[in-house]
Amino acid sequence: MTKVLPEVTVYTGPMGAGKTTRLYGKMGELTHLGVPYEAYRPGVDVREVVIAPRGYVVSANEALTPNCTAVEALGDIPVEELVRRGIKTIFLEEWFMFGFDQQRRPISGLYREIMGRWALAGIERVYAAGLDQGASGNQFGLVLDARRYGAKVVVCTARCAYPVNGERDPKCGRVARNSQIYDVRDNRVFDMETLPDLLPEGLRLNDRYRAVCTEHLLLPSEQTKPFDPMQTE
Ligand SMILES: [Zn+2]
Repeated sequence: MTKVLPEVTVYTGPMGAGKTTRLYGKMGELTHLGVPYEAYRPGVDVREVVIAPRGYVVSANEALTPNCTAVEALGDIPVEELVRRGIKTIFLEEWFMFGFDQQRRPISGLYREIMGRWALAGIERVYAAGLDQGASGNQFGLVLDARRYGAKVVVCTARCAYPVNGERDPKCGRVARNSQIYDVRDNRVFDMETLPDLLPEGLRLNDRYRAVCTEHLLLPSEQTKPFDPMQTE
């Protein structure tokens, strides 16, 4: 019997929480078991900053998996062909970025539509990794819908990197489930209420992200400043 939706597992959490590591670990597991799969990531090159959701981090050691294919949209993944080849498992990296169209507008209803189509085609399992709202402040519709439609959501945690002694070590170090964006020039944290859903055009060289605990995510107003979408440099 065909399932209505595939079994979806989402690895999420803040910077440095090991989401991608978990995803790669799962790939390794399936490879070991002889289970075939294909892996995809959004084709938009965030290093060129054509589009970058707030909270997106380009880590220095970012390495693409050798078999990870870039596609523009989830609808471009040739599921029928995959299933014909016996592939019923799909991996998605940075998958939250698939939730926006070319004009950076969120695509509503995408999760249900795509997963329904994939299930119908015979896709049985999907593993996805990426930021969620808690980790970025963004309303990622895909992630919200994944929860709504019963995906298994694995929240990976990091250590709070908030500098408790000014900018000197030690860092707070408590369990961190969220990320925070701040200005490296003055180390001021941006007021979450003022953050746009998607970053404005252009590379924001002074923005930095760090994993934070709940206490350091919710700072008093004197320790925050409004986000300036026009920041240039
Ligand atoms: Zn903290």
